[in-house]
Amino acid sequence: MTGATAAASIAGPALAAPAAPAVAEYDGWWQVPPGLLTRAQLAELEFPRQPTQVAGRVWMDDFRGRRVRLLVDLYRPQTCLPTTASAAQLRAAAARATGRVYECAKCGCRPERSLAGEPLCQVCRHIQRLRGQQEEARRAQRHAAECVAEALAEPRAVILHAVRNGAPPTPSGRARPPLSARIRAVDAANGRALLDVTVSLVSPRARLRDPNAVPAADVTEEVIAVLGGRTLIYWSDDTWVLRQAVRHDWPQREYAHQGPRLVAVQNWSTSWRAQLTTKGERIPAWHPGTPDRLWLHLTRIAATVTAPAETNDPRGPGPTVGEVPE
Ligand SMILES: [Zn+2]
Repeated sequence: MTGATAAASIAGPALAAPAAPAVAEYDGWWQVPPGLLTRAQLAELEFPRQPTQVAGRVWMDDFRGRRVRLLVDLYRPQTCLPTTASAAQLRAAAARATGRVYECAKCGCRPERSLAGEPLCQVCRHIQRLRGQQEEARRAQRHAAECVAEALAEPRAVILHAVRNGAPPTPSGRARPPLSARIRAVDAANGRALLDVTVSLVSPRARLRDPNAVPAADVTEEVIAVLGGRTLIYWSDDTWVLRQAVRHDWPQREYAHQGPRLVAVQNWSTSWRAQLTTKGERIPAWHPGTPDRLWLHLTRIAATVTAPAETNDPRGPGPTVGEVPE
């Protein structure tokens, strides 16, 4: 509608009578843009308006997605006529309606629409929600740091990085299956390199091969000697690649009461970063790139367990101080 008005003003005065403005149709409240009010909301404005011209309609769907029932008409306040109430009448009405608040308790803005319940404007309500989500993220951050520290401290744990190398795509752009897998590992205790092999995933007679890759049989012994029987710490699907490249009885489970286990850290890394979008969604962490860099990342995470927490609690930091038990 705004576009049409703008086009008309550019083209000069229109000769034909202006058409009735289109009524927008919505399949639910989530679609309704801000600025459209119901009849009841018009009446609750600080300076109430009459429902003059319908600007939008909210419908209810049936299970086939057909609009079956009109839920409510919506109005644009600036195109609706004021009610007939005088200033004196509005003042008297305001004195009676003590539940209606037209000032945000937090930022002091003064909306024309009354603030129901807790008198907070939309922005302050949004900030309050984000702060709550940040506190929740903070708790998850502490937990992730403890989990990472625990994994790094396991005797003889290694950091595994296993990725597949694909062939260049076909001339038509179709992806080809991977040719090899590079398997690297560093010692979780000190970041020292323990293993770096590239295993071929295709037959030695295949037309496309990775020239740097060796047959799995040539390195299986070495890989098992380094990784076998140890807790494997990795990003997300490295053990899947490892299994594909080197056949061995690798540990199966992430949770073992004793003995070597599998520890995927991607989610912990994301939790530890605890970074949110302005919508409150968790921002996923990225792989640091190489096994020794992943080791550095994890040692930094683990170091925050004992680092003093930024807290105003005079009793000082501590994993359970001031926390509500769950
Ligand atoms: Zn506010």
